[in-house]
Amino acid sequence: MRIYTMTVDGHSVTSSDTFPVLNPADESVVAEAPKGTVELLDTAVAAARRAFPGWAAQTPEYRSAKLNEIADLIEANAQELSTLLTLEQGKTQGEFGADYEVGGAAAWTRVTAGLRLDDEVIQNDAQGRIVAVRKPLGVVASITPWNWPLAIAIWHVMPAIHIGCTVVIKPSPYTPLTTLRLVELMNTLLPPGVINVVTGGAEIGDRISTHPDINKIVFTGSTAIGRHIMSNSAGTLKRLTLELGGNDAGIILPGTNIDPFIDRLFLASFLNCGQNCSALKRLFVHSSQYEEIVEKIAAYVSTKRVGTGLDASNHIGPLSNRMQLEKVASLVEDARKRGARIVTGGMPLKGPGYFYKPTVVADVSDDMLLVKEEQFGPALPILKYETVEEAVARANSLDVGLGGSVWSNDVEAGAKIAALLECGTAWVNSHSLLSPMAPFGGVKSSGIGTEFSIDGLKEYTYIQVINIAK
Ligand code: NAD
Repeated sequence: MRIYTMTVDGHSVTSSDTFPVLNPADESVVAEAPKGTVELLDTAVAAARRAFPGWAAQTPEYRSAKLNEIADLIEANAQELSTLLTLEQGKTQGEFGADYEVGGAAAWTRVTAGLRLDDEVIQNDAQGRIVAVRKPLGVVASITPWNWPLAIAIWHVMPAIHIGCTVVIKPSPYTPLTTLRLVELMNTLLPPGVINVVTGGAEIGDRISTHPDINKIVFTGSTAIGRHIMSNSAGTLKRLTLELGGNDAGIILPGTNIDPFIDRLFLASFLNCGQNCSALKRLFVHSSQYEEIVEKIAAYVSTKRVGTGLDASNHIGPLSNRMQLEKVASLVEDARKRGARIVTGGMPLKGPGYFYKPTVVADVSDDMLLVKEEQFGPALPILKYETVEEAVARANSLDVGLGGSVWSNDVEAGAKIAALLECGTAWVNSHSLLSPMAPFGGVKSSGIGTEFSIDGLKEYTYIQVINIAK
């Protein structure tokens, strides 16, 4: 079994204390991961602090070239990273799974390498010159979840190091291996201390959010932990980017022929076994088409093969961990007990592994847990509505707002309704499609701040104004 190590101050760090990383497809041990400690975290932060002035002093062109070299290295190791991702997270390799995540990681890195932040001249006249300069914040801590462990690590780390910050990353204990390997690869190209990785759970997370020498935290995960980080980091007034949970609604406008959209609707809800922050998690369908659309979606979903992600003939892998399997099962059970109709699926698969049959649930009401809570799994509730105004109000009724979508054969009509959704991204005739050039973030309890694009890059900087009197 391969030994995975943490990277701190340019060195590989092992630990006699380890924890098992389980394969969600069969619950076998993929590898023992080294367990980080609070002391090691402190060492990593000190290394990042020492590396910061030298890294920040490099030219943007130099750092950009380094990012492109990292993208090359990810591509050169794509097969290894993709297999490892499937082994630790469960996702399929094809079907917008691990190969897509690794390819996206390289592509995202290259786009980030091409972003530039220019000084802004605010005034330049006989009285004086005022220029706003963007400077790197310093040491950034990244805390990542288990659903897209490699992609989200890239989203956090690349803009930070591109703009001149140094980083300590803490992956989810469910999926630490691809991050350990990514940082090992990056470390061959970067000066010691620019990128560090320390594993662990809440105890390392709590040290991060109270650490006096960390300037910013970028966190992707649940709203509950996001709130906890925010209150914990108040004492040291850290900058925060919080990408939190969502419960995205999709509205199919009355009279829409969904045949051209059926695969997109499926991917919107079931890609990555439904474990996407911005998955379509509540689908609103007009009463005049309710039965027809429920049947069509359920029939399409039931053609999909569920099984280990390593077998290319499977479309959907297992859930990523037992906790999530139990959560999805309990939300579907609650709906069933309260009178909802399970049109397809509705049960775990027998045998080892965290497999759950892709599920479509009809006759659901807004007060069922499957609708109110984020299921984060392969179970789509379909809700009936009478008027579009009512559907929009119900879509907006929750305290989260990451994404939303409107589906229509008339895209302009769709765009008008999409603009009424209270969320960070409103799609028309798609859902969950992200671009490195488009700002991404949530409103309400789905988060604070923005990732991707120039706006995302700015979150790793502060503004210094140079004000010259003439
Ligand atoms: P989680 O909040 O349980 O864990 C996320 C990370 O926080 C892990 O690394 C975990 O170890 C760490 N953590 C745990 N306790 C901590 C503490 N006390 N202090 C600091 N860090 C701590 O989330 P998860 O279950 O890994 O991920 C699923 C959630 O993430 C879902 O709600 C999903 O919607 C959300 N998510 C959001 C986005 C987005 O971009 N908005 C993307 C992916 C996932």
